[in-house]
Amino acid sequence: MKYDFPVTRTTTPKAKPDPDTLRFGVDFTDHMFIMDYEEGKGWIDGRIVPYGPLTLDPAAVVFHYAQEMFEGLKAYKTADGKVQLFRPDMNAKRTNRTNNRLCIPQIDEDLYVEAIKALVRVDADWIPQKEGTSLYIRPFIIADEPFLGVRRANHYKFIIILSPVGPYYVGGLAPTKIYVEDKYVRATDGGTGEAKCGGNYAASLKAQEEAHEKGYEQILWLDGVQRKYVEEIGTSNAFFVIDNEVITAPLDGTILPGITRDSVIALLKKEGYKITERKLSIDEVVQAHKDGKFQEMFASGTAAVISPVGELCYKGDKMVINEGKIGPIAQKMYDTIYGIQTGTVEDTL
Ligand code: PMP
Repeated sequence: MKYDFPVTRTTTPKAKPDPDTLRFGVDFTDHMFIMDYEEGKGWIDGRIVPYGPLTLDPAAVVFHYAQEMFEGLKAYKTADGKVQLFRPDMNAKRTNRTNNRLCIPQIDEDLYVEAIKALVRVDADWIPQKEGTSLYIRPFIIADEPFLGVRRANHYKFIIILSPVGPYYVGGLAPTKIYVEDKYVRATDGGTGEAKCGGNYAASLKAQEEAHEKGYEQILWLDGVQRKYVEEIGTSNAFFVIDNEVITAPLDGTILPGITRDSVIALLKKEGYKITERKLSIDEVVQAHKDGKFQEMFASGTAAVISPVGELCYKGDKMVINEGKIGPIAQKMYDTIYGIQTGTVEDTL
C-alpha cells in the first residue's frame, strides 16, 4: 500500500444509532483522520485516531479570518456488503481548486482519496445498509496557526470525520417548495462562489431563515450583479426543463461545480436529451411558466442526490411545476444515480 496511516483504535466504542431513525449529520463514528501541514515540511503525520474534540489555540486563524474549506461525499454498502464511494477523485480535485482560492496548500489527490478509504475501512461497520441510508464523509481543512493579522497561515489541519445518515426525504423523493431570493446574494463575479468554504454558508443563513419563515424549504439564488440569472439552490445545483430543453447554470465562477451535477449532465447527454449549460434568466422561467412550457425543475447534490421542485415563488408569484408532482426526468436521474451509488445499476458514465 502506498500510504500506511497509523491507527489508534478507540477503547470506548460508541453504540451505533438505530438505522430506522437516522438523521442527517448528528451521529459520528468512532474514529477520525488527522494530518498536519507545516510550512517547509508539507503535509505530514497522517493518522487515524479516536473521534473526539480538538484542542486549538484561541488565536487560530480559522476562528478569525475563516481560512478553511470542506467537502462532502458518501460511502454506500451494496447488497453483497461491498463498500462503494461515489467519485472521490472529484472531491479531491475540487478541494485543490478551493484551496487555491483560499491560499491553503495543495494536497496530493491520491493521498486524499487513500485517507478517506483508510478511515472508511476502519469504521466500515458504521455504514448503514437500509434503503436510503449511507455514511456521509466530511473532509475539511482548517488554518490552525495562532496569530492575529491577515495573511495566509503556515499551519493547517486536514481532518476527515464520518457520519451515518438517513434518507434525506423520509418516505422517498418528494417535491420541494423553493423561494427565489431577490434581496440577498450568495456570490458574485470574482468572489468565492465556486469554492467550498464555510464563509459562503454562513453568509447564506439569513436568506434561508427568511425563506423558511415564508414557508419555503430552500432558496434559489440569482446572480449577484443583476439578480437576473438563476444560479443554484441551497446546497445543490438547479436544473430546469423548458420546452424539452434541460438547462443548468454554467460554471462561470459563482456556483459550486457539483459532482452530482456533472453526473446528471453526462447521463442526460448519454440518454439523448437536449442539455444546455447556459445563463437562464428568471424572467425566461416566468414566461415559460405562463406559456405552459416550464415542464420540470429539480436540484442535484450529495445530500439528497436529486430533489424535485414542485413550487417556485418569485416576487410573491407562485409557480406550480408539473402539478406539484415528481417529474419524469428527476425520477430517472434519481433512480440511475442512486442505483450507481448503491451498486444496483451498472456505472457506465
Ligand atoms: N452547490 C452548493 C453550494 C453545495 O454546497 C453543494 C453540495 N456540495 C452542491 C451545489 C452540490 O454539489 P455535489 O453534487 O458535489 O454535492
